Amino acid sequence: MTDWITIKKIDAHMHILPDAVHEANPDSEDVWVYADLHKYRSMMDKLGIAKAVIMPLNDPWLMSMEFAINAVHKNLYKMRQRYPGKFYAFADIDTRNTSAESVDAVRRAIQEYGLDGIKIHPNNTGVDLDSEYNRPIFAFAQEHRIPMAIHSYPNSESDRSAAYRVVNVLEQYPNLTVIVSHMGAYQWEQLLPTRAYVDFSAILPDYVRTYGVHKTNEILQKFGTDRLIFATDYPDSRILAPTGIYNTYFEALSQMDFTQEEAEKISHGNIEKILNRS
Ligand SMILES: [Zn+2]
Repeated sequence: MTDWITIKKIDAHMHILPDAVHEANPDSEDVWVYADLHKYRSMMDKLGIAKAVIMPLNDPWLMSMEFAINAVHKNLYKMRQRYPGKFYAFADIDTRNTSAESVDAVRRAIQEYGLDGIKIHPNNTGVDLDSEYNRPIFAFAQEHRIPMAIHSYPNSESDRSAAYRVVNVLEQYPNLTVIVSHMGAYQWEQLLPTRAYVDFSAILPDYVRTYGVHKTNEILQKFGTDRLIFATDYPDSRILAPTGIYNTYFEALSQMDFTQEEAEKISHGNIEKILNRS
């Protein structure tokens, strides 16, 4: 049994909105109020979170006041710089641009701004995961060994982020490093035979509520400790208030039967290896 409050953690999938967006929406009352760089930084030590990976939303309206991809990347870069060594950030995709323009934007994000990976959210972009549009982006990421985080929380068999589409991408790009965010939700079984890493952001509390802790533990064990990545999707949760998210994760994980060594891989080791591209 591991104490998940004190173990060193990297939250591999969470959200922060840029200061400029907060300043432009001072009366906002939704969960995004919690997606604040400075408030988050002040929580980290108490929660044992050494570092966190800021994920964009494939929605330029939330990630900059200029609503343009390069401005989004510049904002992510600035957040990373503000608290050195505490944050990573993944590059964004804006499908209003052509596929080639998206590759250029991602290249700049990685090479000029030093971002750490690419995030793709098929449901927010309205573009199927395995569509033609995304192919040059996957090819670029594979060639440069850039980790690719794929949102997959499908609600139907043909969902834009359906697990079978993730499987298609894994087959078409055999050397692509893929992190499936939200584990493919209730289509997780289709991801079992693949090589993809899975982060349990957003989905872990949903599994616990649906299956109970014991069965959730079994599902995680099926993936194996080398593929599992701790992540929460803070402050966004379908079923929890932002202030309850971390405690719920720690309580559930502390009841599972990972050894200390296994827990270390899940809590930070696996994502560190991916981000160091080693
Ligand atoms: Zn997310």
